[in-house]
Amino acid sequence: MDRQQEFVLRTVEERDIRFIRLWFTDVLGVLKSVAVAPAELEAAFTEGIGFDGSAIEGLTRVYEADMLAKPDPSTFQVLPWRGSTHGTARMFCDILTPDGEPSLADSRYVLKRALSRAGDKGFTFYTHPEIEFYLFENPADPDKPLVPVDSGGYFDHVPRGTGHDFRRAAIQMLESMGISVEFSHHEAGPGQNEIDLRYADALTTADNIMTFRTVVKEVALEQGLYASFMPKPMAEHPGSGMHSHFSLFEGDRNAFHEPGAQLGLSPVARKFIAGLLHHAPEITAITNQYVNSYKRVWTGAEAPAYVCWGHNNRSALVRVPMYKPGKGNSSRIEYRGLDSAVNPYLAYAVLLAAGLKGIEEGYELPEGAEDDAWTLTDAERRAQGIGALPSSLEHAIELMERSELVAETLGEHVFDFVLRNKREEWNAYRQQVTPFELKRYLPVL
Ligand code: GLU
Ligand code: MG
Ligand code: MG
Repeated sequence: MDRQQEFVLRTVEERDIRFIRLWFTDVLGVLKSVAVAPAELEAAFTEGIGFDGSAIEGLTRVYEADMLAKPDPSTFQVLPWRGSTHGTARMFCDILTPDGEPSLADSRYVLKRALSRAGDKGFTFYTHPEIEFYLFENPADPDKPLVPVDSGGYFDHVPRGTGHDFRRAAIQMLESMGISVEFSHHEAGPGQNEIDLRYADALTTADNIMTFRTVVKEVALEQGLYASFMPKPMAEHPGSGMHSHFSLFEGDRNAFHEPGAQLGLSPVARKFIAGLLHHAPEITAITNQYVNSYKRVWTGAEAPAYVCWGHNNRSALVRVPMYKPGKGNSSRIEYRGLDSAVNPYLAYAVLLAAGLKGIEEGYELPEGAEDDAWTLTDAERRAQGIGALPSSLEHAIELMERSELVAETLGEHVFDFVLRNKREEWNAYRQQVTPFELKRYLPVL
């Protein structure tokens, strides 16, 4: 038992915790949970708790179904919505094979491996997500029209708005679980909200995002509402993105910063951005993993579809936010492609790998784009060397299939599983006859 593990055991006793939920994430980014009694904890820390991995998307092949979940004591938190008597706590887990080796199907391990590659080069990867989501009056029923909780817009202060109460309750709950919130506001769509988490190393951020989704869903249910992270729930309103700010640190120095350089960007930052742009199309099946993700990407509303970077250009895939002189350590770049339904472990792993590739290979950063990429003609975009993200999940799969970078970063098992799962989704989708077709064709054909 190490000190962190002992601390967990002591806290469980002192705070009358009766259930400890062991959390892990499947390959699609869905949170899984198994509850154990306090008496099982010691064994969980030393050997791990056995479970049948074949029940979880992408985790094992059926013939190697037994897996172990080993809790990470540094992630211990009491779940505030479960009350304080006979309480419930949670820890994130690493997934191990029966021989105690890291499972190659564990998303958290994929990210850890990518982070340790960055660590070998002396870099720590910091991330800060801006998470957008919708609040609806009604529970998820695909046969009924969606009713957003208000008709507010960007930064609106909605009088007596449901959104305020909701954001206050959600933020209090997040803070009580050790997750700091930096900003929160009403987003552009009716009932759409955004909450931005304070920056942290990418593994902590990915864990925090998983907790965030659970907290937001729980608080919504408590208030009789329904929260959704679906990338594009309503055709006529903006989608929900999860723009993420990135920086690399070497010790306590921000390696993206160079005083006096253009936008304060160091050569490391320029090559990192070049890596992101170069590899963006082939990693999009991971950053935008659903059929629905492409409805967000391709209908504008400040979601990026074109591969370019710019300063304060909200149509660009990578934006370099305002740099404040004297605040070099806050230098960062913003990747705007991700949507809110992403598996954060896999997404941060492939994005980091793309940026590092740019550094390793010394990719040249193209000119920044200051025009709105949506208003340019195809010819103008071509002349400026601006490419595009994949147009659909099918297109994204084709690009990912050929990507050495994604195969290497995810490892063979996760790579194959994601491709298989996504092809199946695309096939199911393309067999549909949609209301669009009936409305458009039936009256005339
Ligand atoms: N909702 C937009 C998106 O899907 C982003 C709006 C913003 O700039 O925050 O990416
Ligand atoms: Mg936003
Ligand atoms: Mg943003």
